[in-house]
Amino acid sequence: MNPLAQRIAALIAAQGPISIAEFMTIALHDPKSGYYARQDPFGVAGDFVTAPEISQIFGELLGLWCVQVWRDQGRPSRKRLVELGPGRGTLMADILRASRAAPDFPEGLEVVLVEASPRLREAQRKRLEGWTGPVRWAERLEEALGDEPLFLIANEFFDALPIRQFVRTSRGWSERMVALDVSGSLTFALAPQPARPPRTVPDAPEGAVLEYSAAASATCQEIGRRIADRGGAALIVDYGYEKPGGGETLQAVSRHAFASVLERPGERDLSAHVDFSSLTAGAAQVGAKTCGPVPQGRFLSDLGIARRLEQLIARNPEQRDALASQVNRLVDPAQMGALFKALAILPPTAPKPPGF
Ligand code: SAH
Repeated sequence: MNPLAQRIAALIAAQGPISIAEFMTIALHDPKSGYYARQDPFGVAGDFVTAPEISQIFGELLGLWCVQVWRDQGRPSRKRLVELGPGRGTLMADILRASRAAPDFPEGLEVVLVEASPRLREAQRKRLEGWTGPVRWAERLEEALGDEPLFLIANEFFDALPIRQFVRTSRGWSERMVALDVSGSLTFALAPQPARPPRTVPDAPEGAVLEYSAAASATCQEIGRRIADRGGAALIVDYGYEKPGGGETLQAVSRHAFASVLERPGERDLSAHVDFSSLTAGAAQVGAKTCGPVPQGRFLSDLGIARRLEQLIARNPEQRDALASQVNRLVDPAQMGALFKALAILPPTAPKPPGF
């Protein structure tokens, strides 16, 4: 066991089994040994690669999306652009560069990056050095919000939020916890008393697993409330499923390969597929409108990824194959094009945004 596993085992020995959500929070965010506190997870040398790290076109198209939605809402001068979980800052840098296509968009724009990891905040600050407008950081969404229209972007953020798991047994639903086995190692165990998941699916067979993220639902409610009240739009892109009951999807990833969830906490990325139905329900409950989710491949194609690729190739003909294969990775349904999906949250009266 690594030192963080030992600390978690001591916690369980003292107070009893913990939920998977609690385990994920410690493993990802422990200030000393948590995954996001310790390492830069991105890129070929890291554990995983995200869309903005694959191709600059991803962020450029998202930037143009923001500009179009802002135009559709009458070009409000004061506006806030918030990104949840900005990673290395690449996506925001690409969004801001592309948004200059509309010279009056950057005017009156306040940028806020919501990032839990001090290490990544520093990487983002460096990446955005060239941007002259106001930028600030917040640890939580609530600290990032103001009274202007809110434009919000989140790519691969919701998959990192903690989930709880519920298993259907012959006696009803029971929560799967992290406990200790006889040798004192971390293990999964069902809580002895039944527990009903906050959202259920009808007719789940025995053995079915349901995942629920309270943090994801609450975040979408907060976003939906602001957007319904003040205007703006949110664009959420992530891997996940559309209908409730997506099954067991909690995963650990290390050096681009799947690994065991409970082993070596803090050294591996933990994530779960996003339950888009619960995000949509959260936003709808507070009076916002949602569009999608639509598959990422279709979304990016609708936004003109092929045209932008041609432009880049014309300027860098020697990179033709590399550029084309990056774009293919984003849109090919066998790669990221179908598993990844885009969801928009809008004020109830807003027109349909591009790509949906
Ligand atoms: N959007 C980026 C990074 C995705 S990785 C990209 O597409 O490349 C997830 C990001 O969310 C990291 O920056 C991580 O530090 C951040 N994060 C995870 N959980 C968080 C939380 N609860 N609060 C704030 N940031 C969080």
